[in-house]
Amino acid sequence: MTAMVPLLAAKGLRRHFVLQRRGLWQRPVHLRAVDDVSFEIHPGETLGLVGESGCGKSTVGRLLLGLERPDAGEVAFEGRNIIGQKAAQWRAMRRRAQMVFQDPLNALDPRIGLGRQIIEPLQIHAVGDPASHAQRLADALDAVGLPQEVAKRYPHEISGGQQQRVVIARALVLDPSLVVCDEPVSALDVSVQAQVVNLLGRLQRERNIAYLFISHDLKVVRHLSHRVAVMYLGQLVEVADRESLFREPLHPYTQALIAAVPVPDPTRRGRRILLQGDPPSPIDPPSGCRFHTRCPHAQPVCRERVPPLDPAGSQRWVACHLVTRAKESP
Ligand code: SF4
Repeated sequence: MTAMVPLLAAKGLRRHFVLQRRGLWQRPVHLRAVDDVSFEIHPGETLGLVGESGCGKSTVGRLLLGLERPDAGEVAFEGRNIIGQKAAQWRAMRRRAQMVFQDPLNALDPRIGLGRQIIEPLQIHAVGDPASHAQRLADALDAVGLPQEVAKRYPHEISGGQQQRVVIARALVLDPSLVVCDEPVSALDVSVQAQVVNLLGRLQRERNIAYLFISHDLKVVRHLSHRVAVMYLGQLVEVADRESLFREPLHPYTQALIAAVPVPDPTRRGRRILLQGDPPSPIDPPSGCRFHTRCPHAQPVCRERVPPLDPAGSQRWVACHLVTRAKESP
Protein backbone atom coordinates (compact mmCIF):
# COMPACT_ATOMS: atom_id res chain seq x y z
CA MET A 1 0.00 0.00 0.00
CA THR A 2 2.99 2.35 0.39
CA ALA A 3 6.39 2.80 -1.21
CA MET A 4 8.25 2.09 2.07
CA VAL A 5 9.45 -1.44 2.72
CA PRO A 6 7.00 -2.86 5.26
CA LEU A 7 7.95 -4.94 8.27
CA LEU A 8 4.85 -7.00 7.68
CA ALA A 9 2.58 -7.19 4.64
CA ALA A 10 -0.69 -9.14 4.72
CA LYS A 11 -2.35 -9.69 1.37
CA GLY A 12 -5.79 -11.14 0.66
CA LEU A 13 -6.08 -12.94 4.01
CA ARG A 14 -9.13 -15.16 4.32
CA ARG A 15 -10.24 -17.36 7.19
CA HIS A 16 -13.59 -19.10 7.31
CA PHE A 17 -14.44 -21.44 10.16
CA VAL A 18 -16.62 -24.50 9.57
CA LEU A 19 -19.02 -24.48 12.51
CA GLN A 20 -21.29 -27.46 12.09
CA ARG A 21 -23.25 -29.26 9.42
CA ARG A 22 -26.87 -28.35 9.00
CA GLY A 23 -30.01 -29.70 7.35
CA LEU A 24 -30.87 -32.93 5.64
CA TRP A 25 -27.72 -32.85 3.50
CA GLN A 26 -25.51 -31.90 6.45
CA ARG A 27 -24.11 -28.93 4.56
CA PRO A 28 -21.20 -27.21 6.31
CA VAL A 29 -21.88 -23.76 7.78
CA HIS A 30 -19.07 -21.25 7.26
CA LEU A 31 -18.37 -18.38 9.60
CA ARG A 32 -16.58 -15.79 7.47
CA ALA A 33 -14.27 -14.39 10.13
CA VAL A 34 -11.82 -12.70 7.75
CA ASP A 35 -12.34 -11.99 4.04
CA ASP A 36 -9.74 -10.54 1.68
CA VAL A 37 -7.89 -8.44 4.25
CA SER A 38 -4.71 -6.64 3.15
CA PHE A 39 -2.54 -4.15 5.01
CA GLU A 40 1.04 -3.29 5.90
CA ILE A 41 2.85 -2.47 9.12
CA HIS A 42 6.09 -0.50 9.03
CA PRO A 43 9.03 -0.66 11.44
CA GLY A 44 8.35 1.31 14.61
CA GLU A 45 4.74 2.19 13.79
CA THR A 46 1.46 1.32 15.44
CA LEU A 47 -1.38 0.23 13.23
CA GLY A 48 -4.63 0.33 15.19
CA LEU A 49 -7.20 -2.27 14.15
CA VAL A 50 -10.69 -1.29 15.28
CA GLY A 51 -14.23 -2.55 14.90
CA GLU A 52 -17.09 -3.96 16.90
CA SER A 53 -16.77 -7.16 18.87
CA GLY A 54 -16.83 -10.22 16.60
CA CYS A 55 -15.71 -8.37 13.43
CA GLY A 56 -12.66 -10.60 13.00
CA LYS A 57 -9.92 -8.34 14.43
CA SER A 58 -8.50 -10.96 16.79
CA THR A 59 -8.51 -13.59 14.05
CA VAL A 60 -6.39 -11.25 11.91
CA GLY A 61 -3.85 -10.98 14.75
CA ARG A 62 -3.75 -14.75 15.15
CA LEU A 63 -3.31 -15.26 11.40
CA LEU A 64 -0.29 -12.96 11.37
CA LEU A 65 1.49 -15.00 14.03
CA GLY A 66 0.54 -18.42 12.69
CA LEU A 67 -1.84 -19.20 15.55
CA GLU A 68 -4.49 -19.65 12.85
CA ARG A 69 -3.85 -20.90 9.34
CA PRO A 70 -5.42 -18.76 6.59
CA ASP A 71 -7.59 -20.37 3.91
CA ALA A 72 -6.08 -17.95 1.40
CA GLY A 73 -3.70 -15.02 1.29
CA GLU A 74 -0.09 -14.22 2.12
CA VAL A 75 1.82 -12.81 5.04
CA ALA A 76 5.33 -11.48 4.40
CA PHE A 77 7.39 -10.70 7.50
CA GLU A 78 10.71 -8.88 7.11
CA GLY A 79 10.44 -9.53 3.37
CA ARG A 80 9.78 -13.29 3.56
CA ASN A 81 6.50 -15.05 2.93
CA ILE A 82 5.74 -17.14 5.99
CA ILE A 83 2.51 -18.88 5.00
CA GLY A 84 3.11 -22.52 4.18
CA GLN A 85 6.69 -22.43 5.51
CA LYS A 86 8.22 -25.20 7.59
CA ALA A 87 8.21 -25.13 11.41
CA ALA A 88 11.81 -23.85 11.55
CA GLN A 89 10.91 -20.71 9.57
CA TRP A 90 7.88 -20.14 11.76
CA ARG A 91 9.99 -20.45 14.87
CA ALA A 92 12.44 -17.90 13.50
CA MET A 93 9.56 -15.53 12.80
CA ARG A 94 8.06 -16.06 16.25
CA ARG A 95 11.33 -14.89 17.78
CA ARG A 96 10.78 -11.54 16.10
CA ALA A 97 6.99 -11.28 16.47
CA GLN A 98 5.19 -11.66 19.79
CA MET A 99 1.67 -11.32 21.11
CA VAL A 100 0.13 -9.66 24.18
CA PHE A 101 -3.33 -10.98 24.98
CA GLN A 102 -6.34 -9.34 26.57
CA ASP A 103 -6.42 -11.20 29.87
CA PRO A 104 -2.98 -11.39 31.50
CA LEU A 105 -4.11 -13.91 34.11
CA ASN A 106 -5.10 -16.35 31.37
CA ALA A 107 -1.80 -15.78 29.60
CA LEU A 108 0.24 -16.67 32.72
CA ASP A 109 0.63 -20.10 34.29
CA PRO A 110 -0.59 -19.89 37.92
CA ARG A 111 1.82 -22.64 39.05
CA ILE A 112 5.04 -21.19 37.70
CA GLY A 113 7.05 -18.30 39.16
CA LEU A 114 6.94 -15.09 37.13
CA GLY A 115 10.70 -14.94 36.58
CA ARG A 116 10.69 -18.35 34.95
CA GLN A 117 7.73 -17.37 32.79
CA ILE A 118 9.45 -14.21 31.57
CA ILE A 119 12.59 -16.05 30.42
CA GLU A 120 10.69 -19.05 29.04
CA PRO A 121 10.79 -17.71 25.43
CA LEU A 122 14.61 -17.59 25.66
CA GLN A 123 14.65 -21.27 26.60
CA ILE A 124 12.11 -22.25 23.94
CA HIS A 125 14.16 -20.52 21.25
CA ALA A 126 17.52 -21.64 22.73
CA VAL A 127 18.78 -18.07 23.06
CA GLY A 128 21.69 -17.42 25.47
CA ASP A 129 22.74 -19.25 28.64
CA PRO A 130 21.48 -19.13 32.25
CA ALA A 131 23.77 -16.19 33.14
CA SER A 132 22.53 -14.11 30.21
CA HIS A 133 18.94 -15.12 31.05
CA ALA A 134 19.32 -13.63 34.52
CA GLN A 135 20.53 -10.35 32.99
CA ARG A 136 17.74 -10.35 30.38
CA LEU A 137 15.18 -10.99 33.11
CA ALA A 138 16.48 -8.05 35.14
CA ASP A 139 16.47 -5.82 32.02
CA ALA A 140 12.93 -6.88 31.04
CA LEU A 141 11.58 -6.14 34.54
CA ASP A 142 13.31 -2.75 34.48
CA ALA A 143 11.91 -1.99 31.03
CA VAL A 144 8.32 -2.53 32.14
CA GLY A 145 8.81 -0.72 35.46
CA LEU A 146 8.49 -3.70 37.80
CA PRO A 147 10.69 -4.31 40.87
CA GLN A 148 13.12 -7.21 40.59
CA GLU A 149 11.43 -9.10 43.42
CA VAL A 150 8.40 -9.70 41.15
CA ALA A 151 10.49 -12.47 39.55
CA LYS A 152 10.02 -14.56 42.71
CA ARG A 153 6.27 -14.13 42.85
CA TYR A 154 3.33 -15.98 41.30
CA PRO A 155 0.59 -14.45 39.12
CA HIS A 156 -2.07 -14.33 41.86
CA GLU A 157 0.29 -12.36 44.13
CA ILE A 158 0.39 -9.23 41.94
CA SER A 159 -2.23 -6.82 40.56
CA GLY A 160 -3.84 -6.99 37.08
CA GLY A 161 -1.75 -4.07 35.84
CA GLN A 162 1.43 -5.76 37.09
CA GLN A 163 0.37 -9.04 35.47
CA GLN A 164 0.02 -7.28 32.11
CA ARG A 165 3.47 -5.72 32.62
CA VAL A 166 4.84 -9.24 33.18
CA VAL A 167 3.17 -10.40 29.94
CA ILE A 168 4.73 -7.43 28.12
CA ALA A 169 8.14 -8.22 29.68
CA ARG A 170 7.83 -11.79 28.41
CA ALA A 171 6.96 -10.50 24.93
CA LEU A 172 10.00 -8.17 24.98
CA VAL A 173 12.60 -10.60 26.23
CA LEU A 174 13.35 -11.86 22.69
CA ASP A 175 13.70 -8.27 21.42
CA PRO A 176 10.87 -8.50 18.86
CA SER A 177 10.34 -6.10 15.97
CA LEU A 178 6.54 -6.65 16.01
CA VAL A 179 4.10 -7.16 18.86
CA VAL A 180 0.45 -7.96 18.21
CA CYS A 181 -1.50 -6.45 21.11
CA ASP A 182 -5.00 -7.94 21.28
CA GLU A 183 -7.13 -5.68 23.51
CA PRO A 184 -4.19 -5.40 25.92
CA VAL A 185 -5.86 -2.97 28.32
CA SER A 186 -9.55 -3.81 28.12
CA ALA A 187 -9.40 -6.30 31.03
CA LEU A 188 -7.63 -3.76 33.27
CA ASP A 189 -9.04 -1.15 35.65
CA VAL A 190 -9.48 2.22 34.01
CA SER A 191 -6.94 3.65 36.46
CA VAL A 192 -4.14 1.39 35.15
CA GLN A 193 -5.11 1.36 31.46
CA ALA A 194 -3.34 4.67 30.80
CA GLN A 195 -0.18 3.43 32.56
CA VAL A 196 0.01 0.33 30.33
CA VAL A 197 -0.76 2.34 27.17
CA ASN A 198 1.96 4.85 28.07
CA LEU A 199 4.35 1.97 28.78
CA LEU A 200 3.69 0.51 25.31
CA GLY A 201 4.31 3.94 23.76
CA ARG A 202 7.61 4.39 25.63
CA LEU A 203 8.84 0.90 24.73
CA GLN A 204 8.06 1.57 21.09
CA ARG A 205 10.06 4.80 21.10
CA GLU A 206 13.01 3.16 22.88
CA ARG A 207 13.10 -0.06 20.84
CA ASN A 208 11.48 0.85 17.51
CA ILE A 209 8.90 -1.93 17.94
CA ALA A 210 5.91 -2.03 15.58
CA TYR A 211 2.50 -2.82 17.06
CA LEU A 212 -0.69 -4.15 15.60
CA PHE A 213 -2.95 -2.70 18.28
CA ILE A 214 -6.32 -4.47 18.23
CA SER A 215 -9.02 -2.69 20.19
CA HIS A 216 -12.65 -1.68 20.21
CA ASP A 217 -11.71 1.43 22.25
CA LEU A 218 -11.18 4.31 19.85
CA LYS A 219 -9.84 6.63 22.53
CA VAL A 220 -6.95 4.27 23.25
CA VAL A 221 -6.38 3.61 19.53
CA ARG A 222 -6.27 7.34 18.83
CA HIS A 223 -3.71 7.85 21.58
CA LEU A 224 -1.31 5.13 20.45
CA SER A 225 -1.74 4.59 16.69
CA HIS A 226 0.02 6.20 13.75
CA ARG A 227 -2.44 4.68 11.28
CA VAL A 228 -5.80 3.03 11.81
CA ALA A 229 -7.56 0.21 9.93
CA VAL A 230 -11.32 -0.11 10.45
CA MET A 231 -12.89 -3.55 10.16
CA TYR A 232 -16.52 -4.47 9.67
CA LEU A 233 -17.82 -8.03 9.48
CA GLY A 234 -14.54 -9.58 8.40
CA GLN A 235 -13.45 -6.90 5.93
CA LEU A 236 -11.44 -3.68 6.06
CA VAL A 237 -13.59 -0.67 5.19
CA GLU A 238 -11.10 2.17 5.76
CA VAL A 239 -7.36 2.58 6.34
CA ALA A 240 -5.91 6.02 7.03
CA ASP A 241 -3.42 7.93 9.12
CA ARG A 242 -4.74 8.77 12.56
CA GLU A 243 -5.21 12.50 12.02
CA SER A 244 -7.15 12.14 8.76
CA LEU A 245 -9.30 9.33 10.07
CA PHE A 246 -10.40 11.11 13.23
CA ARG A 247 -10.66 14.53 11.61
CA GLU A 248 -12.60 13.43 8.52
CA PRO A 249 -13.73 9.80 8.53
CA LEU A 250 -14.87 8.87 5.01
CA HIS A 251 -16.61 5.53 5.40
CA PRO A 252 -20.10 5.74 6.97
CA TYR A 253 -19.18 2.98 9.44
CA THR A 254 -16.04 4.84 10.56
CA GLN A 255 -18.14 8.00 10.87
CA ALA A 256 -20.61 6.18 13.11
CA LEU A 257 -17.86 4.63 15.27
CA ILE A 258 -16.14 7.97 15.80
CA ALA A 259 -19.41 9.80 16.38
CA ALA A 260 -20.22 7.33 19.15
CA VAL A 261 -17.10 8.32 21.13
CA PRO A 262 -17.98 11.11 23.55
CA VAL A 263 -15.68 14.04 22.70
CA PRO A 264 -16.01 17.48 24.32
CA ASP A 265 -15.96 19.22 20.93
CA PRO A 266 -18.90 21.54 20.13
CA THR A 267 -18.08 21.49 16.39
CA ARG A 268 -19.01 17.80 16.32
CA ARG A 269 -22.63 18.53 17.38
CA GLY A 270 -25.26 17.49 14.87
CA ARG A 271 -22.94 15.00 13.15
CA ARG A 272 -23.86 12.09 15.39
CA ILE A 273 -24.82 8.98 13.44
CA LEU A 274 -26.61 6.21 15.26
CA LEU A 275 -26.02 2.69 14.03
CA GLN A 276 -29.21 0.69 13.85
CA GLY A 277 -29.17 -2.76 15.45
CA ASP A 278 -26.39 -5.27 15.87
CA PRO A 279 -23.98 -6.27 13.12
CA PRO A 280 -25.37 -9.05 10.89
CA SER A 281 -24.05 -12.56 11.41
CA PRO A 282 -20.72 -13.40 9.75
CA ILE A 283 -22.31 -16.77 8.95
CA ASP A 284 -24.58 -15.13 6.40
CA PRO A 285 -23.21 -11.64 5.70
CA PRO A 286 -25.27 -9.24 3.57
CA SER A 287 -24.65 -9.16 -0.18
CA GLY A 288 -22.71 -6.30 -1.78
CA CYS A 289 -21.45 -3.91 0.86
CA ARG A 290 -21.75 -5.78 4.15
CA PHE A 291 -22.62 -2.53 5.90
CA HIS A 292 -25.65 -1.77 3.70
CA THR A 293 -28.20 -3.09 6.23
CA ARG A 294 -27.11 -0.40 8.72
CA CYS A 295 -25.84 2.36 6.48
CA PRO A 296 -27.84 5.61 6.40
CA HIS A 297 -26.56 6.33 2.85
CA ALA A 298 -27.20 2.91 1.26
CA GLN A 299 -28.15 2.92 -2.46
CA PRO A 300 -29.41 0.03 -4.61
CA VAL A 301 -25.88 -0.57 -5.91
CA CYS A 302 -24.68 -1.16 -2.35
CA ARG A 303 -26.80 -4.33 -2.12
CA GLU A 304 -25.44 -5.67 -5.39
CA ARG A 305 -21.76 -4.85 -5.65
CA VAL A 306 -18.95 -5.29 -3.15
CA PRO A 307 -17.09 -1.96 -2.88
CA PRO A 308 -13.34 -2.53 -3.25
CA LEU A 309 -10.88 -0.95 -0.83
CA ASP A 310 -9.80 1.86 -3.20
CA PRO A 311 -7.29 4.68 -2.74
CA ALA A 312 -9.02 7.82 -1.47
CA GLY A 313 -6.15 10.26 -1.08
CA SER A 314 -2.60 10.11 0.16
CA GLN A 315 -2.05 6.95 2.21
CA ARG A 316 -5.78 6.44 2.52
CA TRP A 317 -8.10 3.62 1.37
CA VAL A 318 -11.88 3.36 1.62
CA ALA A 319 -14.39 0.68 0.58
CA CYS A 320 -17.58 2.63 -0.22
CA HIS A 321 -19.41 3.23 -3.52
CA LEU A 322 -20.34 6.76 -2.48
CA VAL A 323 -16.74 7.77 -1.79
CA THR A 324 -15.56 6.19 -5.05
CA ARG A 325 -18.34 7.95 -7.00
CA ALA A 326 -17.61 11.34 -5.41
CA LYS A 327 -13.95 10.93 -6.33
CA GLU A 328 -14.77 10.07 -9.95
CA SER A 329 -17.28 12.91 -10.54
CA PRO A 330 -15.73 16.14 -11.92
FE1 SF4 B 1 -23.05 2.72 2.78
FE2 SF4 B 1 -23.15 1.95 0.25
FE3 SF4 B 1 -20.94 3.01 1.20
FE4 SF4 B 1 -21.69 0.59 1.96
S1 SF4 B 1 -21.08 1.21 -0.11
S2 SF4 B 1 -20.93 2.19 3.26
S3 SF4 B 1 -23.89 0.81 2.03
S4 SF4 B 1 -22.92 4.03 0.99
